[in-house]
Amino acid sequence: MTRASKPQLWFLTGSQALYGEETLEQVAGQSLRIQQLLAASGGLPAEIVGKPVLTESASIRRVLQEANSDAACVGVIAWMHTFSPAKMWITGLDALRKPLLHLHTQLNEALPWSTIDMDFMNLNQAAHGDREFGFIQTRLGVPRKTVAGHVSDPAVVARIDAWARAAIGADHLRNLRLARFGDNMRDVAVTEGDKVEAELRFGVSVNTYGVNDLVEAVDSVSDVDSLVAQYAQDYDVVPDLAAGGARHESLRYAAKIEAGLRKFLTDGGFGAFTTNFEDLGGLRQLPGLAVQRLMADGYGFGGEGDWKTSALLAAVKAMGVGSDRGTSFMEDYTYHFGPGTPKILGAHMLEVCPSIAAAKPSCEIHALGIGGREDPVRLVFDAAPGPGVTLGLVDLGDRFRLVANEIEVVEPDEPLPNLPVARAVWEPAPSLSTSAESWITAGGPHHTVLTQAVSTESLRDFANLLGVELLVIDSDTTPHGFADRIRWNQAYHRLAQGF
Ligand code: MN
Repeated sequence: MTRASKPQLWFLTGSQALYGEETLEQVAGQSLRIQQLLAASGGLPAEIVGKPVLTESASIRRVLQEANSDAACVGVIAWMHTFSPAKMWITGLDALRKPLLHLHTQLNEALPWSTIDMDFMNLNQAAHGDREFGFIQTRLGVPRKTVAGHVSDPAVVARIDAWARAAIGADHLRNLRLARFGDNMRDVAVTEGDKVEAELRFGVSVNTYGVNDLVEAVDSVSDVDSLVAQYAQDYDVVPDLAAGGARHESLRYAAKIEAGLRKFLTDGGFGAFTTNFEDLGGLRQLPGLAVQRLMADGYGFGGEGDWKTSALLAAVKAMGVGSDRGTSFMEDYTYHFGPGTPKILGAHMLEVCPSIAAAKPSCEIHALGIGGREDPVRLVFDAAPGPGVTLGLVDLGDRFRLVANEIEVVEPDEPLPNLPVARAVWEPAPSLSTSAESWITAGGPHHTVLTQAVSTESLRDFANLLGVELLVIDSDTTPHGFADRIRWNQAYHRLAQGF
């Protein structure tokens, strides 16, 4: 699940011819310094690619059209160094389809109080030029993120980083192909949705395959020795499943599922998939271990045919690139109302990603009451404590809505020796009752993406890039205020759609 090339952020610097060649050379030099400072910060998940200083409309339009068509370019950062008249940006910005970040900065951190003269003032007037640029973006209705501050400030770099990750996620989603094995779980409403609208808005292509196409790929796997050896290295395999154990054959069949599924996805260029326990065809086990390992490699997954959560998971995993924390498919399962702080216990039948595990997972086999197949192999673990976000995507009929909740993953109050699945226990902000009331009022789904690798700010940027509503439940949320926001957003999004 790696890109063909390292993602690039193009760095564009605006100026004009008024000040002469010598000044433009200084502008180019200062632009390069800003780019170097950003690159040297080590805080960005993409390569900064500088472009020549822009001083007139034809070259601006050309470079923005090149950004549109360059597969490596995931977004554009613009900085108006000297006073750059913004009319020269109109047709270029109108044509731009890639994410835009307006960086409002200057090279010098301190004013040179004792030496400052009019030459310095004329060279370093982004305070002026960037306001002109802000006006034209607002006048044209150009979606963008504006970040103000000096690039030596880690908080400034962090805000650019959040946006860069959002741009990488949006790019991943735009190019994503998703394979569904079977349709949605019967009678479930929230996992349904408009796949045509999803492809138009997000780019993801969602198509269904007969599960027996997958069975064919699984059955044609002949050698799983190296995969089984890998399992023994990566996990604590219970003796029953280990080589020589009574149920070792079940582990070998789980490995065949992984190898077959991986081949099917690789051959088809798929970055995400869904399964449905009601439609397993000739599969002898519900895929558990295979799904968990593919998620750990960056694949999106949704249970019960949930393609929306699968696509979202693939995108958020792409956004978390380079993080040592994880992101997983998740489901709100059951509650602890007390004693102590109320908590949510999240899990799924089998499919929780080991990237969120606190320690080395245990590879186990247990009976599964549903699906009517042989006992499936799965990884069992507790999720690592720490801050995170849960994120869900619903189709409201006339548009999509994202709902997010800031959470704190905690250790379970007590060990869970009889729970044979991977799980996460968390305290949702601001409280379980307000979180659940708000989530349910928003129509949020029971399937989510749980991430500890991507910040709420990055998810906000992601929603803005996609033009999708995002409702965030955090420490400031009250049920009444949240219900009001839903009503106001309803009016805004209906109006924004036009006629
Ligand atoms: Mn489910």
